[in-house]
Amino acid sequence: MVEIKLTNTRTRTKEVFKPLDPQNLRMYVCGPTVYDRAHLGNARPVVVFDVLYRLLRHVYGPDHVTYVRNFTDVEDKINARATETGREISEITSETIEWFLDDMGALGALPPDHMPRATEYIPQMVAMIADLIAKGHAYEAQGHVLFAVESFTEYGKLSGRSVDDMIAGARVEVAPYKRNPMDFVLWKPSSDDLPGWDSPWGRGRPGWHIECSAMAYELLGDSFDIHGGGNDLMFPHHENEIAQSCCAHPEGGFARVWLHNEMLQVEGKKMSKSLGNFFTVRDLLDQGVPGEVIRFVFLSTHYRKPMDWTEKKAKEANQTLLGFLEAVEGVEAAAPDEQVLLALADDLNTPKAIARLHELKNADDGAKLLASARLMGLFDFVPTTGTMGWGAESEEVSQQLLKLARRYAELRGAREYEQADALREQAQQAGIELQATKQSVGQGALAKRTAGFNASKLAELLE
Ligand code: AMP
Ligand code: ZN
Repeated sequence: MVEIKLTNTRTRTKEVFKPLDPQNLRMYVCGPTVYDRAHLGNARPVVVFDVLYRLLRHVYGPDHVTYVRNFTDVEDKINARATETGREISEITSETIEWFLDDMGALGALPPDHMPRATEYIPQMVAMIADLIAKGHAYEAQGHVLFAVESFTEYGKLSGRSVDDMIAGARVEVAPYKRNPMDFVLWKPSSDDLPGWDSPWGRGRPGWHIECSAMAYELLGDSFDIHGGGNDLMFPHHENEIAQSCCAHPEGGFARVWLHNEMLQVEGKKMSKSLGNFFTVRDLLDQGVPGEVIRFVFLSTHYRKPMDWTEKKAKEANQTLLGFLEAVEGVEAAAPDEQVLLALADDLNTPKAIARLHELKNADDGAKLLASARLMGLFDFVPTTGTMGWGAESEEVSQQLLKLARRYAELRGAREYEQADALREQAQQAGIELQATKQSVGQGALAKRTAGFNASKLAELLE
């Protein structure tokens, strides 16, 4: 079995990865707060941890890996959006979740095995908070419940900060009910116009951090293998998750390996609305940038390094992928290349894996190139809409979708628009959305499976 090495934030070293239970490998990644389209930066952890998920599935078997990524659907930003727009909170969160899955699917990200919504786990959060109070790690004050950081000697270890330094560095105004300025909220009161649930501390809602502790415990148990997220989450979010989970379930120890991706910038600058360089994944897709190009640009930089999104890189990636596509035309995927696998196993060295893809292309080894690219989530169509809980495409369906997309692109390329439109309508009948893209890999079209997908109709269409 291939040895996987990962850089563990907790120990600050690259370690050989040893699963707690190779039959049931468990990974948790913090997901988005759902009130708006994902911006390009939000997609980085999704792609990084998708590569890890695919690698783990390859090495340990797809049935032996459980990947959980949550949706934060109770948060003050969501409440604010509802007030601004006059829309229902549930409408906003459900719509945003659909968008998120659609956009990330376009980047070839497999849906995780579990995608829990915070609001479905309120009783578990309340139980965990009550347990923390009972064990002397939390206290109630003015309708709030706070975690007492001084009760946990390990607080600050993950991010390498001391509580004293944190207090000295804190410039925010401290709420009067806090015993220690670093104590953080587990539960807070809700006014009648805000979402709230009954609890032993009155009607209220959870603080942000408790959801991940409660959902990870419920779905993965008191100890699991890998916890991931962007490095902006290391403090305070992950520090607080550790405090909550290790104090509620000291026997477990929570996550063994902590993995953090670095941030994304755009043309050398921090992405921000005021600089005018802020855009969503959907903006790029709508401009005709294929999801695969976005993914490829992401993978060109190692996850532990800051990555710079540039238009130049996107154009180059498009050219490279067109070359790869030519090389895999008509071939059957073989087993992935050993060197690609070893590069990925070495702390997800995706730039090295890509260098090897170039070698495979130059050696005209289309079968290995296709299998290796697929292992990295390229040329691997992923269902992007529908209900939750679908699996990845079967090899057969994936090939058929590719074929259909090509046929559509060829018709459009030949300016046979009537025939192309007819094909698009037939595809719709089979529950497939055909989309022309301007400068696309796959010769200008994508085929996406939708909720009404019908495999036999797709097969008929291609006869
Ligand atoms: P937020 O929308 O800020 O709650 O972030 C959601 C997720 O996106 C978190 O996992 C963040 O770490 C990640 N994230 C936010 N901004 C960036 C960025 N510029 N680069 C990489 N990841 C980011
Ligand atoms: Zn989290």
